[in-house]
Amino acid sequence: MLTAIVGINWGDEGKGRMVDLLSEDYDVICRYQGGNNAGHTVVNEKGKFILNLLPSGILRDDVVNIMGNGMVIDIEHLYGEIKTLKDKGIKITPDNLKISDKAFICMPYHKQQDILEEERLGDKKYGSTRRGIAPVYGDKYMKKGIRMGDLLDLGTLEDKLSDILQWKEITLKGYGINNLSLQSMIEWMMEFGKPLIPYITDTTNYLMQAISDSKNIMFEAQLGALRDIDYGIYPYTTSSQTLAAYATIGTGIPGAKIDHVIGIMKAYSSCVGEGPFTAELFGEEATKLREAGAEYGAATGRPRRVGGFDIPASRYGVMVQGADSLALTKLDVLSYLDKIPVCVAYEIDGVRTEKFPVGDRLNRAKPVYEYLEGFKTDISKCRKPSDLPEAALKYIQYIEEAVGCPIKYVSVGPGRHDIIRF
Ligand code: GDP
Repeated sequence: MLTAIVGINWGDEGKGRMVDLLSEDYDVICRYQGGNNAGHTVVNEKGKFILNLLPSGILRDDVVNIMGNGMVIDIEHLYGEIKTLKDKGIKITPDNLKISDKAFICMPYHKQQDILEEERLGDKKYGSTRRGIAPVYGDKYMKKGIRMGDLLDLGTLEDKLSDILQWKEITLKGYGINNLSLQSMIEWMMEFGKPLIPYITDTTNYLMQAISDSKNIMFEAQLGALRDIDYGIYPYTTSSQTLAAYATIGTGIPGAKIDHVIGIMKAYSSCVGEGPFTAELFGEEATKLREAGAEYGAATGRPRRVGGFDIPASRYGVMVQGADSLALTKLDVLSYLDKIPVCVAYEIDGVRTEKFPVGDRLNRAKPVYEYLEGFKTDISKCRKPSDLPEAALKYIQYIEEAVGCPIKYVSVGPGRHDIIRF
C-alpha cells in the first residue's frame, strides 16, 4: 500500500505527529520535497524531537527512511540533525536511512544568496526562512546543481564545483560578493558530506524492490497545498511541489500509483511569513489563539500568523491534494473559546465567493466570518467520538461537510495517542 500524508493548508498542520502515529503500519517512510526550511515536531515516549530533514519514521524502530530526489539537503544541517538524534539514543544507520543519489545539496552559497536577496527586497521580502531553498532549487533548474551522488565521485567533484562557482560568482557579484573559495567549499563537503556517503542510495532500485515485496510505503510531505510552487499562493510559496501527486516523482518511483492520500488540516489556520492570509485575525483574538496553540515556527521560532478555520482555502487544499480522508488536528486548542470563528467565504471587490481565488484577486480577498458554538471543556483526555461534547462534534461535522471529505482522525493533544478515530 502506498499512502501520502500531506498538508491541506499553509503547513504546520501537524503532519509530523500523524506520520509518527500512522507509520506503525508502514515499512518505509519517504520525504519527497523541500529541505530544512520547515520542521516537524514529534512527541512520543522517546521524547520531543524537531525534525527538519529526516523523515518522521526515523523515530520508529524497524522503519526504513528515504530522503528522496525531490529534496534539497544542507549536508551540514543533516549531519547535525543526525548527531542530535543519535545523542538522544535514536538509531540511525545506512540500514534505516537512505538518501537519494539524485537529491540536491544545498550549499553555503545558496544560504548566502537567500539572505542577500531577502535583504535586498527589504519591505517586499518573501519571508524566506533564509536557508537557501529557493536558490538551490533555482540552480537545479539552471542545471548548476551538485547532487548527493556527486559525493561518490570525489575525483570529478572538484572540477564540477569549480565550474559552478565561476558561474555563481557572476550572480553574487551583483550583491557585492567577489570571490567564493573553492578550497573552503571542498573542505565543507569533505567535513559534512563524507560521513553521509554510506547512506547514499539509488532509491528507485530500493523502492521498486520494496513494492515488489509488498511493503507498505508512506510519503511524508513538508508544508501544505497552499505552499506548492504551482498551485499555492505564488510567489509566497515554497520552491518545490508539496502535493501528493509529486510524492512518487520526488522519491524515485514516478510510475507507481498512490493508494491513499491523507490530508492533515488544523482546527484553525496558521501561516508563517509573508503573503495573502485572508482568514488572519488580529489583536487580542489573535494573541489568545497563538498562545493557546503555541504557534511559533518549528524551524525558526517565528510567531505564526493565526486565523479561524478557512473553508475556501481548505476545500481547495483537499481538492488539489486529492485527499480521500482527513485528520483534523489541535482541536483541543479551541477549548477556551465561547464562540469559534470560521471563515466561511471570501469577499472580493464586494462580491462573495466560496471559491479559493488565485493571483491578485486573492490579495484583495476579505474574510466572511461566522461563529460556531464553543465547547468550553477540556477535551484533551477524550479518546473516542462519544467522549466529545456535542458542540465539538458539531464543529467537526460542519467542517467535514464544508470541505467535502471524511474526517477520520481528530487530535486533541501533541502526544502520539492523543487522538480520536472516527
Ligand atoms: P508539521 O510541520 O505539519 O508537522 O507541524 P508542526 O510540527 O510545525 O506543528 C505542529 C505542532 O502542534 C507541534 O508542536 C505539535 O507537537 C503540536 N500538535 C500537534 N497536534 C496537536 C494537538 O492535537 N494538540 C496540541 N495541543 N498540539 C498539537
